Amino acid sequence: MSTSSVNQRNGTHRSSLRAHSSASTSAAAHKPSLKSKTVLRKSSPAALGSGSSAAAGSKSGNGGDAGVPGRVRVAVRLRPRNGEEMIADADFADCVELQPEVKRLKLRKNNWDTDTFEFDEVLTEYASQKRVYEVVAKPVVEGVLDGYNGTIMAYGQTGTGKTYTLGQLGEEDVADRGIMVRAMEDILAQVSLETDSISVSYLQLYMETVQDLLDPANDNIAIVEDPKSGDVSLPGATLVEIRDQHSFLELLQLGEAHRFAANTKLNTESSRSHAILMVHVRRSLKTESNGNSHMTKSLKPPVVRKGKLVVVDLAGSERISKSGSEGHTLEEAKSINLSLSALGKCINALAENSSHVPFRDSKLTRLLRDSFGGTARTSLVITIGPSPRHRGETTSTIMFGQRAMKVENMVKLKEEFDYKSLSKRLEVQLDSLIEENERQQKAFVDEIERITVEAHNQISEAEKRYANALEEEKLRYQNDYVESIKKLEENWSKNQKKLAAERLALGEKNGLDITSNGNRSIAPALEEVSELKRMVQKEAQLKMAAEEEVNRLKLQLTESKKVEVSGNSEIMRLHKMLETETQQKEKLEEEIATLHTQLLQLSLTADETRQNLERHGSQKTSGGALDSFMSQLKLPQIQDPGNAEKPPVAKLFEQVGLQKILSLLEAEDADVRIHAVKVVANLAAEEANQQQIVEAGGLTSLLMLLRNTEDETIHRVAAGAIANLAMNETNQELIMDQGGIDLLSSTAANAQDPQTLRMVAGAIANLCGNDKLQTKLRSEGGIAALLGMVRCGHPDVLAQVARGIANFAKCESRASTQGTKRGKSLLIEDGALSWIVQNAKTETTAIKRHIELALCHLAQHEGNAKEMVKEGAIWELVRISRECSREDIRSLAHRTLTSSPTFLTELRRLRVDIR
Ligand code: ADP
Ligand code: MG
Repeated sequence: MSTSSVNQRNGTHRSSLRAHSSASTSAAAHKPSLKSKTVLRKSSPAALGSGSSAAAGSKSGNGGDAGVPGRVRVAVRLRPRNGEEMIADADFADCVELQPEVKRLKLRKNNWDTDTFEFDEVLTEYASQKRVYEVVAKPVVEGVLDGYNGTIMAYGQTGTGKTYTLGQLGEEDVADRGIMVRAMEDILAQVSLETDSISVSYLQLYMETVQDLLDPANDNIAIVEDPKSGDVSLPGATLVEIRDQHSFLELLQLGEAHRFAANTKLNTESSRSHAILMVHVRRSLKTESNGNSHMTKSLKPPVVRKGKLVVVDLAGSERISKSGSEGHTLEEAKSINLSLSALGKCINALAENSSHVPFRDSKLTRLLRDSFGGTARTSLVITIGPSPRHRGETTSTIMFGQRAMKVENMVKLKEEFDYKSLSKRLEVQLDSLIEENERQQKAFVDEIERITVEAHNQISEAEKRYANALEEEKLRYQNDYVESIKKLEENWSKNQKKLAAERLALGEKNGLDITSNGNRSIAPALEEVSELKRMVQKEAQLKMAAEEEVNRLKLQLTESKKVEVSGNSEIMRLHKMLETETQQKEKLEEEIATLHTQLLQLSLTADETRQNLERHGSQKTSGGALDSFMSQLKLPQIQDPGNAEKPPVAKLFEQVGLQKILSLLEAEDADVRIHAVKVVANLAAEEANQQQIVEAGGLTSLLMLLRNTEDETIHRVAAGAIANLAMNETNQELIMDQGGIDLLSSTAANAQDPQTLRMVAGAIANLCGNDKLQTKLRSEGGIAALLGMVRCGHPDVLAQVARGIANFAKCESRASTQGTKRGKSLLIEDGALSWIVQNAKTETTAIKRHIELALCHLAQHEGNAKEMVKEGAIWELVRISRECSREDIRSLAHRTLTSSPTFLTELRRLRVDIR
């Protein structure tokens, strides 16, 4: 940068300064100059001397984010004239004029012209070390204590007071203490050494080599950068923990001594090297305990703030050519100044907001990466001398300071959670809890033992008390007993005495002689004897009267025996007469029957002659088998005495044909009708005839008979015939279609004869076995009729009812396994279940089997299970599964029980084992 450009800028600047002084707040907007840019960039409220406000802002916000803008603060310090200058420059004015009250510096160009520069602080030759510390360093040190990184750096020509400003120990005069010493004093005053720690490294950078001023052997320390955070560290550097000011001063002295030795060895001067002091301050934040539970507090990791203060005493900024006498080669000279010129370049780049900042060009810029354009709070003090002979150096120093003022950092709080110490603390807590727990457990066990012993004692105490009380009670009762026995004995002897006295008194009253033993005299005995005598005489008289009576009766008996003999022969005669009469009656009946048949034959023959004879032959088909068919009739009740004339009936069928017989069912004569229905019933018992009978209208005629006659014999026989026809599926449908259920029901309702009921029940039972007719049968009252018949109580009827129910249940179970049946059984709905359960234990085998089957079939459908449990049918099933003599029914019952969830649940509930 040329001097003319500086002049030009400052010329512009100077003219605007006047305005600036009166309107300082708006001045920035009018200045296009370098300096005006600087003013514009003063975005942060943090200025030298009030820097802690940025830290405060960051603290209250989020320490971990992008941070708060914080410009590099630059102060300028003028050294007083030294002895040599007092003499050599005696006739000359200083090259600079300071205006600290307006923070300005005027640089004299010549006798007529000056350039004016504004700085954050302007420190005159009279500024005390304390004041310098307070305005330049204190805000940065406070930031470090609050957890921010901080940099304090001195830049200037050799001999202008960099080391004086930073590193003066002030051993002789405390007022001379420099920034390093004062900073450490401040830090030590504010940290608590119990929870916080301070450690220090002291280094020298010379010719791109980092040397450890605390350990001279360590003369090439590597700079390590964390690729993630970008943090720079020197892991190889000696780190000394500081606990008091004295040890820090010793450390600084040691460092200085080592620096001197190293420079002697390298044949250089300290002004050619950079001295770097690093102070690491690690502070634990006190955790707030307001309202937080112990648990949350103990689980919250402690927060630590780590601030790093870097104090850099830079090498002299003068050009190397000026001090060429040192005898370095050009390469060496380049290397000596490499870091410093790299720093200048970086600051230029940062000041111009250049996209590339060449931090990596030197070790110094790498180390100070955080100080310029990084996260640290940075304060730069530029030192200048007053001598006009060094105006060039002074000017370049001032320009460096001006550029540095434009560097903006993003100040960030270095705060982190201390998980290590949390884990250590929790471990300690855990251990103490474990110990406490062990102790409590032991105490608990002891307590239990104590309570147990106490309880035992109490129990034995109670037992003892009880035994004693028992013993006492026993004794008391024994005493009572003895006492009452005694009393009784006393009473008894008293009574005895009283009795004796009474007897004595009685004896005296009667004037009889009483012995001392109390025996009676013989006077009343004599009286007794005479009484007895009187009684014996009376008895003898009675005996004589009785003997007389016996003789009289004997006589009468002989008389009556004679009469009886003649009576017996009369009875015999009457018996014989009765027998003869009976025989005659039978004969007559036979004759009547023959006559009936003949009459039938005659009427049929007459009919036949009137009609065509052709049909006669065709209806003789079964005629040849008729005899054998008659002998194996299926309905035994039809073989009653009235049906004894099989041969004539057989012949009749053979001769006259079915049509004729059926027409006789409607004959006027009741006897003819009875005979005809019997014939039809016999024929219907043979399966071979059934189709023929139905086709000829026999079924319809039989049903008509049920409707139209009131004769119970006809009802019985017709029902039997219908029952036989009802064994065929087609016929079942026909019966239903013709209102069969209704007819059978009313027949049943009016019937007296158990055999009639049996026939009707048999017919309905057959219908019950038809899958297609279930609903119709039930809706027309079939089941109700069946159940109504049980009133008769006859085992034959009950067997048919049971068979009907079993048939119906079987159809229902079939429907349910085919999935066509839903809901409860119609049988159960009609109340059959209670009858089934009541009769399940019957002794009649025929009823029993059907009922067992009915139960098994009903149980197949899960929809019935609940009702069966309710009605107690489940117990019958259990019994059947255990006791039924038929193996197949037994296993069916068992299978049914074990496959129904409802039954299984119930059995489990009642703890019934059915294995
Ligand atoms: P540098 O480190 O910049 O080369 P020094 O700090 O060594 O310069 O200073 C050179 C000389 O000037 C020292 O003798 C020092 O005591 C003296 N000196 C520097 N600044 C001041 C000051 N402000 N007041 C008094 N003496 C000073
Ligand atoms: Mg120095």
